[in-house]
This record gives sequence, structure tokens and C-alpha cells, in this order.
Amino acid sequence: MHFDHHFVQELSALGAITPISPLSDSRVIAINQGLLESLQLPEAWFQHDTLVDNLYNPEHPLVRNSFAQKYGGHQFGAWNPDLGDGRGLLLGHTRDANQQPVDLHLKGAGPTPYSRFGDGRAVLRSTLREYLASEAMHHLGIPTSRALALITSNHPVQREQTEPGAMLIRTCPSHIRFGHFEYFAHSRQPELLERLFQYTFTHHCDQLTTGENAHHALLSDITQRTARLVAHWQSVGFVHGVMNTDNMSIHGITFDYGPYAFMDACEPGMISNHSDPNGRYAYDKQPGIALWNLNALAHGFTSYLDVDGITEALQQFEPTLQQHYAQLMANKLGLSKLHGDDFSLLNDLLTLMAREGADYTHTFRRLAGIEPHRASHEFCDRFVDRSAAQHWVSRYQQRLLNDPIDPTTRQATMGLANPVVVLRNHHAQTVIEAAYQGDFEPFQRLLATLQNPFDEQHSSAEFAQPPPTENANMKLSCSS
Ligand code: AMP
Ligand code: MG
Ligand code: MG
Repeated sequence: MHFDHHFVQELSALGAITPISPLSDSRVIAINQGLLESLQLPEAWFQHDTLVDNLYNPEHPLVRNSFAQKYGGHQFGAWNPDLGDGRGLLLGHTRDANQQPVDLHLKGAGPTPYSRFGDGRAVLRSTLREYLASEAMHHLGIPTSRALALITSNHPVQREQTEPGAMLIRTCPSHIRFGHFEYFAHSRQPELLERLFQYTFTHHCDQLTTGENAHHALLSDITQRTARLVAHWQSVGFVHGVMNTDNMSIHGITFDYGPYAFMDACEPGMISNHSDPNGRYAYDKQPGIALWNLNALAHGFTSYLDVDGITEALQQFEPTLQQHYAQLMANKLGLSKLHGDDFSLLNDLLTLMAREGADYTHTFRRLAGIEPHRASHEFCDRFVDRSAAQHWVSRYQQRLLNDPIDPTTRQATMGLANPVVVLRNHHAQTVIEAAYQGDFEPFQRLLATLQNPFDEQHSSAEFAQPPPTENANMKLSCSS
């Protein structure tokens, strides 16, 4: 068992101890048993019949030091110093089986000093979406925060409509955001900024302090992690939707699931967030925005690094992104590596897919059915411009013949790079509607499917289906 509160103990000036405000008639909907078993926590705290009582007992060790963190952030490009945990509380820290640090955080626990005009609540819809998406990400092999438990209630919460209030316990290495460093730099509090750096080094990246310049090592590390994360997102067609700097984790994990989407139809300019009409956070803007965000983070490093040091660290973004994206896409194509003409081979496929609105996930999955010396009607018949598809397939078949990878390894690689199922918004919507009628069985079924995304046997066919064409790539409202 391991549970402590070093953030509160060492950085109490960076937030406020805040008690939980219970929701009426609460009950546990889901506990992530696999995740729980990997943590050094007493399982008795997280049982279906005890968790709610524990959360609502202010003396319980799980909640005794619940703490709202203060931070700022660039929202849609504009600096906002007035952010912080408006509806979330840090409960404490544990460790995983490899002794790595894990934060426990409770979302939807009621107002905090940073709630501004908000009610401090989360609705069931958004917590179900976060639970599903973070599990989907994790099982796709993409770094992410994770959901440990979901609690629903009969507590009415007003959004566009009245919805049930809910709470989500989530885990991640830490809840330190780009906006944390930005806030203490912009508000000219160098001592607090220094303590935040020391905390980060001590608890999260001690190994970075052994070299010549720990701050440079940290900025480089965050830059590279962020680049790898975005490469992963691009490779599976994920659109985060709200890449504000308060939603960017220093650990390079997917963080803060709001109006996200996995694209259905291949659409480079896809916008998932209804409140982003200009497409600042569109799919194809994500790499550039991640670098923009890293520049904003670097502002917090200017007392420690000169311009050359900062530039040197940030310049690692592009090559890291390119290298990882190229390898991830090589795996999807079943090639050992992308070089030379392979980039136009890939881009021509993406262009063809975009022109026809071909399903991103399924088109890649079907590539594995193409073999060098066989006709590939199965693949080509899906395209209206069949001759363009045939032309591309011929080039691809030629390329396969020139790759050192053997057919068995190729099939295996492609099978683990091209998911059968991703979390599609229309399926999320279906299970949410059932949940709002009191039926959580579809949610559990979708969850189980997302936990085996590469496995045709385990993937229930119903959740692999794309929506009707006219409903593909729908935008979602931010309200959660
Ligand atoms: P987000 O768009 O989810 O990153 O949220 C932006 C900021 O608004 C964060 O500081 C949140 O804590 C805060 N916030 C979002 N929803 C609420 C709410 N219902 N009540 C209070 N604060 C909220
Ligand atoms: Mg946020
Ligand atoms: Mg959010």
C-alpha cells in the first residue's frame, strides 16, 4: 500500500485544500479492476459497495487531503490566468507495479476556489465519454490518463438540458500541465515557479538532473514526449478538440477528454469541437498547435535557459514527430520503414481517401488483404474512382515486393497497427442514451470491445460500424 500527499505537503501555495461536495443518491457504475490491481492501493477502498461511502467521508484517508490545483493556460491562443481545478480535486499519489508515480484525481466533486461561474460538476455523459476514450487510447498503446472509477447519481446538473451529475476518478503520472509553469512565470512568482520545478524534478524526472542542465533536459523531454503523442494521434485519426495549454500534460499523455473524436471519414481539416469554428484545433493543425503550446510552456523556462537553449530544445519537436509518424505509418502499411517515394505513396493514399471520404480506420485495416500477385477487388471496390484505387494498389503491390519484411511478420505488424474498432462518437452516443435510461450494459459492452481494438474475434461487429455517411465526423459541443 502506498498513498501520500507530497504535492500538498510541498506545494500548498499552489492550490487550496477543498472538500468534496457529495452528489445525491450516488452509485458506482464502473471500477477499472485491471488498473486497480496494478496500483499500490488498498482494493477495499474501491469496492462497488464501499467507494461512495469512502469518498463522502471527509475523514477517510482517500479524501482527507483533497486539493484543487491552481494553474493558467492559453485558451484558443489567449492567455487566461484565471484557471485552475474548477471541478476536480487531487486526492493523492500512489505508485504502479513498476514503482512509477500515479496521481489520483476526482472530477466533478463540486465547487472549488477556481470554479469561477461553474458549478464544479461533471455530467454522466462526459464522464462516460472520458472513461471510454481513455480506455480506448490505452489499449491502442497511446499514452493517456486512465479512468479508475465512475460514479453516477440522481443529482440534477444543468447543461443545455438537466443531466445526472457524475464523478470520475482518474489516474495519470501527475496532473502538472503546461499551464502550471506558464502561470507562475506570467504572474511573476519566481519562488513558486522554482518550487514547482524542484517538485517536478524530485518526483517525476530525477534522472534528468544528472546532466549539465536539468531545465534543458526537462524541456527537451517534454518536447519529445509531446511530439511522439501527436504522431500517435495523427496515426489513428484522433482529434483532441481543445488543445489549450491547460489541457497539455508535461508527461506527453492524452489529457482532458472533452469534444474529442476519432475521425470516421478521412478528412484532414476535421474539426471535432463545435466551439472551434475556425478550426484552430482541427486534425491537421494538431502538430503545429502542439509546437505552439510548447513555445508557450517555454516561457516558464526563460529564467533558466537562454534563447539558444530554448530553441535547441524546441527544435527537437519536428524531427521527433516526423520520425515517429513515419514509423507508425510504415507499420500501418506493413512496410519495415518509409523512405524516398514511400512518402508520396502514403500521401497519395491519404489524398484518395480524403477525396472520397473513405473511412480512416477501415481503409487501413483492409490494406492487409492486399497481396503482391493477387487482384484486390475487395479494397478497390470501396472506391468510386476505382481506377485511381487500382493504380495506387499496383504501386503498393510493387513496393511490397521490394520490402525485406516477410509476409507473416507483415500481417502481424499490420494487425497490431490497424485497429478494427476505435471509439466512434455515434456509438458513444448510443451507449450514453441507454445509460440515461438506466441501462449500462451497452456501455460495458462497448468498453470491452475497446479493450481489444485489434482483435476481430473480440470486437463486437456492431461497434466497428461507421455511421451513415451523412453523420460522419459530427462536431460535439464543449458542454460537459
Ligand atoms: P476544460 O475546457 O475542460 O479544459 O476546462 C477549462 C477550465 O474550466 C478548467 O479550469 C476547468 O476546471 C473549468 N471548468 C470546466 N467546467 C467546469 C464546471 N462545470 N465548473 C467549474 N469549473 C469548470
Ligand atoms: Mg481542462
Ligand atoms: Mg475538460
